Amino acid sequence: MEKLESYDMELDTTTQTARLLIDIWAEPSKQNPHADVLVAPEFLTKFRSLLTSAEISTLKVLEGDIQSQINAERRAMIHNAIRRRKRALKTWSDFDANVYHSYEEMTEFMRLLSEQKPDMVEMIKVATSSEGRSIYGVKIHPPGPSTPEKPSIIVDAGVHAREWIAPAVALFMIKKIVHEYGINPQVTANLQKFDWYIMPQVNPDGYEYSRTNDRLWRKTRSKNVTVNRWCVGADANRNWGYRWGTVTQKNLERKKVFLGEAGANRTPCSNIYMGSHPYSEPEIRGLKEYFTWQITNPMVYISLHSYGQLLLSPWGYTNERTENYQDQQNAAKEAAQAIKNTTGVSYSYGTISEMMYPASGTSIDFMQHRGVPYIYGVELRPTDNPNSFAFNLPPMFIKATGDEMMAALNAIGTHAVKMKRL
Ligand SMILES: [Zn+2]
Repeated sequence: MEKLESYDMELDTTTQTARLLIDIWAEPSKQNPHADVLVAPEFLTKFRSLLTSAEISTLKVLEGDIQSQINAERRAMIHNAIRRRKRALKTWSDFDANVYHSYEEMTEFMRLLSEQKPDMVEMIKVATSSEGRSIYGVKIHPPGPSTPEKPSIIVDAGVHAREWIAPAVALFMIKKIVHEYGINPQVTANLQKFDWYIMPQVNPDGYEYSRTNDRLWRKTRSKNVTVNRWCVGADANRNWGYRWGTVTQKNLERKKVFLGEAGANRTPCSNIYMGSHPYSEPEIRGLKEYFTWQITNPMVYISLHSYGQLLLSPWGYTNERTENYQDQQNAAKEAAQAIKNTTGVSYSYGTISEMMYPASGTSIDFMQHRGVPYIYGVELRPTDNPNSFAFNLPPMFIKATGDEMMAALNAIGTHAVKMKRL
């Protein structure tokens, strides 16, 4: 994988554009010891010879034409957008959580919700993106004034632009919590114990770019004016300051030949570029400030990604275990069981570095360092099996994925209450 990452970009010096030659979609993990890799047609011969020289003999073509999946998704989106435009959103409960929305539509939903449910929902502004979009979230609490120092559950989504199911699930959960409070006993109990902070779209520039220009865009859209002018953006989940760049540094110390390394990358063109310095991305800087100063008693932190059906806990930057490793794994086990009971789907769990690969500069390492007891980077549906749609998961799966994630969070909340005796 590390070797492959080093080939991930080709620079066309005449047009000054960069084209991905190879894009790693899913890294090998413990239960799925294979990688999903998107290969540009002109790189296929080289790719095959690289595999041969690495003595990798099993190669399976999962999907010969990714563009046709993207085109089909686009047609459905345009159709839906036309249908929705006929009827402007009047109440928050009319919001259709079962489609992929634009940044504007997400914002409008949160605004309406906070206006129409002011006793429960407060709209919060967390940051401003490189291109000037406001990054919003909601704080949800039981009706009435919110209690200071109440423990909280924090959910963010959309860190990686192309992982569309993540913001969709976050929005689904917002609607479900408000809608089912007082009706669903589990939802009600959890909201009484915890305040919820949900930020459904923390990389709006990247997300909009993935909707309009490049469906497989992953990074932010910041301009690298000094380092490299034709490669845009950084990996927002390699940009956090705690142990930023450690993995790369370690590899450099071991005098690895290749510039690109798994975990984080110093080349601005890479899909896992960690940024020019810690918190170089205004989105991440804003999140860090908000998490540090505005949320007084964080108990659970979840960052939603796709795909692979995994609950990943810290550390990312090292193979060492955290001091509360066992408790985090116990909660993850209960969450995986709750998912299974809800939709029958299997999620695996473990630390990032033991399940997959080391990664430094992630939000979950930051949160662990901050002392948050329960932390999971969640890789939502699908699994990395053939014909599973990868990032182009059809919107018909939003509800089930949202329901199972809600069940997982309820289980983690219940576990936290049990262990911490809240
Ligand atoms: Zn991701």
